[in-house]
Amino acid sequence: MGGKTPLIGILALQGDVAEHRRMLAALGADTRDVRSVSDLAGLQGLIIPGGESTVMDKLVRRFGLQEPLRQQIQAGLPVLGTCAGLIMCADRVSDGIDGQETLGGLNVTVSRNAFGSQRDSFDTELDVTGVDSPVAVSFIRAPVVTDVGEGVTVRAALPDGRIVAVDNGQIVGLSFHPEITGESRLHAEFVARAREYSPVA
Ligand code: GLN
Repeated sequence: MGGKTPLIGILALQGDVAEHRRMLAALGADTRDVRSVSDLAGLQGLIIPGGESTVMDKLVRRFGLQEPLRQQIQAGLPVLGTCAGLIMCADRVSDGIDGQETLGGLNVTVSRNAFGSQRDSFDTELDVTGVDSPVAVSFIRAPVVTDVGEGVTVRAALPDGRIVAVDNGQIVGLSFHPEITGESRLHAEFVARAREYSPVA
């Protein structure tokens, strides 16, 4: 049964781990940096931070975490992926580097290099279905979702229609970084989801 204070792991091989840790602590969740297989035991949720998906993928494999993480995700572990984390959750990447793999779980296709250099990084406000909107968010060399498969709901899009937030009820994938603007509503929702999850191991 899910405890009152959920234990949420943050994949801490690379990327903006500290910002997520701070936000989860402020929301009253227990956090654990995940760097090895033994760190997965008892987790009720996992955040995959922003960073660089190509590097994160290599490190996940080097640390022997790819299969164990895939198993946890298949077993139903709630996951919140931001930016590179969204890429790691996607079943398909249209413009990955040679040999790039993901953990998968989210039936979507993402494009890693969706924004031209001029609008590489920007802050904006977005309406996100299911939370009090608008939310203030940062896009940093962000991916977009170019195809949404069965079982996945679009929760936010940019004014031009590009999809930037998706959810399959277990995995939330965000192109942007709410943790950088101090926007806590999506993390609060995730903590509530994690609280309901009973770990398998
Ligand atoms: N473009 C990066 C990638 O491919 C993601 C950028 C980010 O996480 N802020 O992983």
